[in-house]
Amino acid sequence: LLQLEGVSVRFGERAAVDAVDLAVAEHEVVCVLGPSGSGKSTLLRVVAGLQQVSGGRVLLGGADQAGVPVHRRGVGLMFQDHQLFPHRDVGSNVSFGLRMRRAGRSSYAAEVAQLLELVGLPGAQGRAVASLSGGEQQRVALARALAPSPRLLMLDEPLGQLDRGLRERLVVELRGLFSRLGTTVLAVTHDQGEAFALADRVVVMRDGRIAQAGTPLEVWQRPASEFVARFLGFEN
Ligand code: ATP
Ligand code: MG
Repeated sequence: LLQLEGVSVRFGERAAVDAVDLAVAEHEVVCVLGPSGSGKSTLLRVVAGLQQVSGGRVLLGGADQAGVPVHRRGVGLMFQDHQLFPHRDVGSNVSFGLRMRRAGRSSYAAEVAQLLELVGLPGAQGRAVASLSGGEQQRVALARALAPSPRLLMLDEPLGQLDRGLRERLVVELRGLFSRLGTTVLAVTHDQGEAFALADRVVVMRDGRIAQAGTPLEVWQRPASEFVARFLGFEN
């Protein structure tokens, strides 16, 4: 579904993303791991069309995305800070995601109800965003990102602000949700536990390059380098 071919992003002298090759198959859940500043968010922004590349190609469904604007790429995005509209209720936050798909329809009530059910917040349409807990807000953000039925869902630290217990619960729920829906996911996290629980395949980044890619088991059992081993927390 997604192919990156030699993708580079330079800011001045420095390459935030350096000649990255990566393919994500349909229905696959891929988690990008790596230290702060290793280029994870930049990589997602490139796929979304929010960041120009300095070199290389991005293909979605086999089609080169050069010049294709964000709203034409069929991708869903959920950022590090989930950026709900704080002054709108839950329902209008979710239906914003639906409006991105089809302009000109006034009521999305049934679909909004369905999406909220899906993320475990049935009946929350009328609630004020400010009255929700962090975890509930995160679920609303997820419902909004899922609303346009994106062919590729991209999550940047989707559970970033939450405490460990809630993260662990939501990871299990997300895993189930994605496999039920058959969603193709490219997610970024710097929590390896989260990546290993969620992903079919993990990609470890270092300084804009891919240090290793493989199934969680492969990466865990055979770290490709000292860096990966140390990043995964092996002391020797
Ligand atoms: P984190 O885990 O902290 O979110 P990250 O892996 O997502 O880190 P990126 O945000 O992709 O890292 O940034 C990679 C590098 O590119 C960093 O050194 C960052 O300072 C730099 N960078 C990112 N965006 C820009 C920009 N718009 N202008 C200049 N430098 C940038
Ligand atoms: Mg980031």
